[in-house]
Amino acid sequence: MSTLFISDLHLCSGRSQSNRCFFGFLESEAHSADALYILGDLFEYWVGDDDLDDPFNSTVVAALARLVASGVPTYLMHGNRDFVIGEAFARASGVTLLPDPTLIELHGQAVLLMHGDTLCTLDLEYQAFRREARSQTWISNLLHQPLAQRKAAVEALRRKSEQEKRGKPAEIMDVAPAEVEAVLRRYGYPRLIHGHTHRPARHVHRVDGHVCERWVLADWYHGGSYLVCDESGCRAVQLSGT
Ligand code: MN
Repeated sequence: MSTLFISDLHLCSGRSQSNRCFFGFLESEAHSADALYILGDLFEYWVGDDDLDDPFNSTVVAALARLVASGVPTYLMHGNRDFVIGEAFARASGVTLLPDPTLIELHGQAVLLMHGDTLCTLDLEYQAFRREARSQTWISNLLHQPLAQRKAAVEALRRKSEQEKRGKPAEIMDVAPAEVEAVLRRYGYPRLIHGHTHRPARHVHRVDGHVCERWVLADWYHGGSYLVCDESGCRAVQLSGT
């Protein structure tokens, strides 16, 4: 009985090492798992489900569909890069979309799943943008633009965000400890698994006398990595990336 967690793959057609790693992972490690959870930023960006016919996108969707058809339930949470993934994507791939956060039970223990961006509350600028961009108005304005125009707009947003990130101190780009504690308290002191910060680690938080484990998933920029959890606990596994 093993459940796998991945996030921040940032898949795009130009990143062949990560792509090879991902397709290999789906056919081997994930294939023999009991379930796979993808906790956001599967794609570098997703501009709308009407882009499912893009050759690279359809390859990813077909690979996920093969995994699901082989009997591995696969769950997908939105990240900050792919939050307009919708029902058409879910139907085509067979994945089940999960809200952020989602509380599951694994081997008798409560496990809270998040992408992780909502924990970065010290980044006020980003949180303000997030609130705006997750509104129905923003999303429907985006999806009403022609596909090519959307891709250009997303590219521009990415460049802007990369520039802004360079000017921000490292601690602002990480989770806010107070927010992590507040979330652990709100959900009854679960184990927490999230990605987003690209700072893979196992943290231990002591909150109100409870000891909570927090696993931060790695990005897939240099090969791949996943977290595997079973009855004995969780451990991070690095994929070879060749
Ligand atoms: Mn992210």
